[in-house]
Amino acid sequence: MTTVKEAIEKMIQSRNVDTGRVSGLSRQIIAQMNTLQTSILINFENLPGISSSGESQLNLYLQAGAKEDLRAVLREGIAKQPSLRMTINSAYRTVAQQHILYQTYRREPKLIPLAAKPGNSNHEDGLAIDVSNYNAWKPYLLAHGWQWQGSRDPVHFFNNSGRDDVSNLGVKAFQSLWNKYNPTDKMTVDGNFGEQTAAKMDRCPIAGFALVTLFQLGDTGSVITRIQQSLTNIGFPTPVNGVFDQKTQAAVIKFQINKGLTADGDVGSMTLKTLGIRL
Ligand SMILES: [Zn+2]
Repeated sequence: MTTVKEAIEKMIQSRNVDTGRVSGLSRQIIAQMNTLQTSILINFENLPGISSSGESQLNLYLQAGAKEDLRAVLREGIAKQPSLRMTINSAYRTVAQQHILYQTYRREPKLIPLAAKPGNSNHEDGLAIDVSNYNAWKPYLLAHGWQWQGSRDPVHFFNNSGRDDVSNLGVKAFQSLWNKYNPTDKMTVDGNFGEQTAAKMDRCPIAGFALVTLFQLGDTGSVITRIQQSLTNIGFPTPVNGVFDQKTQAAVIKFQINKGLTADGDVGSMTLKTLGIRL
């Protein structure tokens, strides 16, 4: 498991900053945002004329108003120049991605010359896009609610027709996501990206959180029945009664020894997988 902190170290070492590396964690943050505030971020990859050139790591999300403005931009651009496509370099940026940019900027300003603190970029509001062929699209963007950042950051366009600033919703989403998967190490859900939140972000798996699955002596339920059935079917017979009892544990240990697994009598993710059980 690679943590966010380890990923930042590697990016600085290799001098290649790629916020797509936290796409797993980012997907969970976006889903949590849409849970906290229903449909605040809307996918726009299916708008006609969008070309993200196979960069599946991009989060093509905007707030509803900004997406509708973009639809009008694309419609007008294509009506006037049928072969024109809009190439998007960056759209929604999660708090995890902004954390990577900001930490890199603080440590190696040569790599990232400028980055807003997490919670402060309009890419985190779902109100900004970076367009690599910006010259072609600029007139249409300006005609439909988008503003240009200027020559200092020429690819950047932003749109204020969305709802209010939601970047602290992104921070809240991260904080509540952390709490869901770390019930014994919770933090305050206040929407502020302070030191405590940054330290926990550093410890997150870049691929996203996974619930730890472990079944052991004393557990009951339908998964236990499946474990018992599977053990019995492949030659390690146990009662099939949904109760992880001593006999079940003994069969698990025999199975683990037979398969070269750690023979601890607990059914964790490796043992489940070897038994062919997917939860
Ligand atoms: Zn930008």
